[in-house]
Amino acid sequence: MPAGKPAGLRCVQLDEENRCLLFGHPSRPRVCSTLRPEPEMCGESREEAFLILGRLEEFTQPSTSALAALAANTPVQ
Ligand code: SF4
Repeated sequence: MPAGKPAGLRCVQLDEENRCLLFGHPSRPRVCSTLRPEPEMCGESREEAFLILGRLEEFTQPSTSALAALAANTPVQ
């Protein structure tokens, strides 16, 4: 994903079993290869990890006004 993975969208590099197709490959994004999983991020199960990660994406999604300001190259209000 040349412009990065937007929040809420599934990465195109995930296979049908949710494994990264770029794992171990030099073209894997640095943000992915340097990320170290933590219990606060992953919880105790796969289901809990999806719930936590979904919330993190939701909480860190830029507001529409921030995106409009970025597009117009003006300060965020
Ligand atoms: S580790 Fe990065 S490149 Fe691989 S599937 Fe996840 S977001 Fe995509």
